[in-house]
Amino acid sequence: EAKAAGRNSVRFFDPSMQAQVRSRAELEAGIRRGLDNGEFELHYQPQYSDDGELVGAEALLRWQHPERGMVSPAEFIPVAEASGLIRPLGHWVLEEACRQLVRWDTDPVLGSIAISVNISAVQMHHENFVNELLNVLEHSGANARRLKLELTESMLVRNVEQTIDKMAALRRRGVGFSLDDFGTGYSSLIYLKRLPLDQLKIDQGFVHDLLHDANDTAIVRTVIALGQSLELSVIAEGVETDEQRSVLTDFGCRYFQGYLFSRPLPAEAFEALAHEQV
Ligand code: C2E
Ligand code: MG
Ligand code: MG
Ligand code: MG
Repeated sequence: EAKAAGRNSVRFFDPSMQAQVRSRAELEAGIRRGLDNGEFELHYQPQYSDDGELVGAEALLRWQHPERGMVSPAEFIPVAEASGLIRPLGHWVLEEACRQLVRWDTDPVLGSIAISVNISAVQMHHENFVNELLNVLEHSGANARRLKLELTESMLVRNVEQTIDKMAALRRRGVGFSLDDFGTGYSSLIYLKRLPLDQLKIDQGFVHDLLHDANDTAIVRTVIALGQSLELSVIAEGVETDEQRSVLTDFGCRYFQGYLFSRPLPAEAFEALAHEQV
């Protein structure tokens, strides 16, 4: 037995695993330092209505690492979630998004758009989330009606009642909710009807194969019809081609986001884009 345990513990020191452990610890320390040193920034990806009007921006977190350059959120968000660092990081994102809303307040174009912020399950399920967000709104002076939170289905299957209460409390103050990556999770239609949502966001995976995969065509059509019957707006993410936009429009989708229109941009570039389109 001791031998078996010994063998197992030897496996723990497998060099690739050690590298993984080290890089995770390094990432954690890096995120902490990055928050202190102002290495994070938000980029903004425009969202358009079917008549070409700029209606919103999704705030996407970017980490300008001093040695590694741009680190993708796909790499550091999971580490931030597992370590609890997503709370201070997510709080910074909300503060920055609200500051941006206030900066844009008096702008003729940007003063009427909404910013969508991605919220992770760890943040949403924290008991103080609602109060913390209301404080951020109050201190920043941002208009809650111009803030939208993107939640994912998987976070809504846990603590459903509590989550609905939190959403309802924020919605009373004007905050909107979008269900991100819709179709990839497994939210039941009963919950969907009960959630105080404003928007469904069709996952980019379905949009990607919309023209080539009959299943994805059917799913996209169904999601759009579902949104219409629940009186939710439907936005497609990951729209890359005019053909995709056209099929989505035919199916009744009214809002779009994707590389066809623009990649996520630093605030100044986003502002320039918004103004050149007027
Ligand atoms: P998401 O919320 O589903 O965001 C959409 C992702 O698709 C973004 O990747 C965006 O840059 C990318 N994208 C947009 N248009 C296109 C397109 O036409 N084609 C393709 N192939 N991709 C497109 P990004 O910025 O790397 O973010 C990845 C994920 O990281 C996000 O997925 C979100 O889950 C998470 N994330 C980003 N920022 C935050 C944040 O502030 N907080 C939290 N909790 N998560 C965040
Ligand atoms: Mg999102
Ligand atoms: Mg998404
Ligand atoms: Mg996605």
